[in-house]
Amino acid sequence: MFKQLTDKERWEAMRKYPAKIIPYAEYDENVELICPICGWQGTPKESGMVDTDSHFALDVSCPICDKMLLVAEYALANPID
Ligand SMILES: [Zn+2]
Repeated sequence: MFKQLTDKERWEAMRKYPAKIIPYAEYDENVELICPICGWQGTPKESGMVDTDSHFALDVSCPICDKMLLVAEYALANPID
């Protein structure tokens, strides 16, 4: 059902479909995401692939093919008053 990608195909897909970058204020764990590579659909919450390790941004990857789908940047440089 889901396409298995080689490393080369995955890299090309990353370049072709860069992750969407949004301010963290706009991040919604219940927003519907669609993976452009394998067609997975779901929310960050459903994906179980929300990475909050970085101090600069949170990212959400596809649970099937690992494609980074969404990046939500924390507002460290430009604090919101
Ligand atoms: Zn995918």
